[in-house]
Amino acid sequence: MKEFVVFDLEWNQNPYGRETAVESLPFEIIEIGAVKLNEKLEIISSFCRLVRPQVYPELHFKIAEVTHMTMEELRKKGKPFPEVMKEFEEWCGKCAVYCTWGPMDLTELQRNVAYFGLENPFPKPLLYYDVQKLYSLFREEGKEKKALDTAVKELGLKEDRPFHQAFDDACYTAMVMERLDWEKAEPYISMDYYQLPENRKEEVLLRFPGYTKYVSRAFETREDAIADKKVTDMVCSQCKRTMRKKIRWFPASQRAYLCLAFCKEHGFYKGKIRIKKAEDGRVFAVKTIKPVDEAGAAEISRRKEENRIKRNERNRQKRQEKRRHQKEAKQSE
Ligand SMILES: [Zn+2]
Repeated sequence: MKEFVVFDLEWNQNPYGRETAVESLPFEIIEIGAVKLNEKLEIISSFCRLVRPQVYPELHFKIAEVTHMTMEELRKKGKPFPEVMKEFEEWCGKCAVYCTWGPMDLTELQRNVAYFGLENPFPKPLLYYDVQKLYSLFREEGKEKKALDTAVKELGLKEDRPFHQAFDDACYTAMVMERLDWEKAEPYISMDYYQLPENRKEEVLLRFPGYTKYVSRAFETREDAIADKKVTDMVCSQCKRTMRKKIRWFPASQRAYLCLAFCKEHGFYKGKIRIKKAEDGRVFAVKTIKPVDEAGAAEISRRKEENRIKRNERNRQKRQEKRRHQKEAKQSE
């Protein structure tokens, strides 16, 4: 039986600034709040625990402001993270489908798990629902990521709970979920990137209505990633045949590449590769393949041309600068 675990975390950060923070633990969890929903999205259980801080001895002023908590309270009522995590794990059960507002909570939870030397309890790949993303996808046509309190206001949900306490925010997130057309939203699952595929076999292909998303294993460098055939292959999402590329992969921005491919039976497909940073400094690729019409295909061709002109312009400026430097060097001799 499927159960949804909607959870939210409150965390503290180094009160003395980022420079002296513990590198592997930028955010120390101080509260876990969650509700469990059945398949009809009805609340069937709840979980709420404070965590006694062990890394940062004071609350960062911003955190103190938004959470309305004090260090004394946390020390008195909180339990050490390993204890709280174990209880949370047991409460969640083995077949929980996790849901959070935004993409950060599962990653930060796993960072805390690793910092305290606990075994990572989550499956690989870890798929979850980003309710913030679903809300923007189905209410705002994917344009803008909204804050939870904004979404709650827009939906006219009751606000008899303060925001920014983990448990209340988990309840609000569940309420937003309930207001979505879940049948439509359900296919749009997200993948948490904290634990990456370590080899070919673990690489992930997700199929969504109308497009596919592929997550590669980690590579040492961006060049290694973009040289990998599996990363760059364009496969038709309908007939699963490898397509011919009409426009080969070209850099469209700092971290993204585009391409255009064509299936004789199913038409044009746009490919996009985003290069992302893994937890350990390596990189991995996330590739999406989407069908496009003639106009969409023309747009990619325009982007490529625009890119070529920009690159030429950059190279021209570089050459000019070099010549100027050489000239100045000669004059000063
Ligand atoms: Zn095809």
